[in-house]
Amino acid sequence: MSTITANLQAVKSRITTAAQAAGRSTGDVALLAVSKTFSADCVRTCAAAGQRAFGENYVQEALDKISALQTLDLVWHFIGPIQSNKTRPIAENFHWVHSIDRERVAQRLNDARSPSLPPLNVCMQVNVSGEASKSGVAPEEATALAQAIAALPRLKLRGLMTIPEPTPDSMLRRQRFALLRELQLKLIALGHPLDTLSMGMSDDLEDAIAEGATLVRVGSAIFGMRSKA
Ligand SMILES: *Cc1c(COP(=O)(O)O)cnc(C)c1O
Repeated sequence: MSTITANLQAVKSRITTAAQAAGRSTGDVALLAVSKTFSADCVRTCAAAGQRAFGENYVQEALDKISALQTLDLVWHFIGPIQSNKTRPIAENFHWVHSIDRERVAQRLNDARSPSLPPLNVCMQVNVSGEASKSGVAPEEATALAQAIAALPRLKLRGLMTIPEPTPDSMLRRQRFALLRELQLKLIALGHPLDTLSMGMSDDLEDAIAEGATLVRVGSAIFGMRSKA
């Protein structure tokens, strides 16, 4: 068995164990394999082991892989910071975008999404760590951004994503994840039917699942250490 295949199985059993510990069903937690900086062949190996959803951060690198692997029928998620001038290739080639943090980017993705494709599934990236982390909309501004996105016909607002500041403090991590969950409930109460909480990575997926993650984004625990960020 390849290392990637063995790692994938290990991550899946971590998800199962964490879901059970939280009294949740394993089927309620999707796994996104984050393949940034790894080759199309690595993705192919992971896909051969049954993985279908892959996350990428860098547009050009992702486009090369998407085109090399198009016969595999994979589901591609864009999870990196979005530059306004890269919205078109993202809207044309991805199924999901997790990192919307401002209206201008949402508008541009909407305008570039072809009517021949289904609406682009999107999450708002929320900054749950205050000034300690730079990316994401502030929780107080999330309602306004959700309203703006909901008005865009080529986008489908599915949920919230966060990357809390790295900390060895498990209680603090859980507080950050809980904040995202509370925000999801608030937005649902306001009429936004959000079904996705994208939170948890290689080092903290257990805490995220305990706090309600429906999708964990796992890179290094599957593909190994990255040489660049
Ligand atoms: C790189 C990355 C991940 C995966 O991180 P690991 O620690 O390697 O699991 C998850 N989410 C985002 C947004 C990333 O950029």
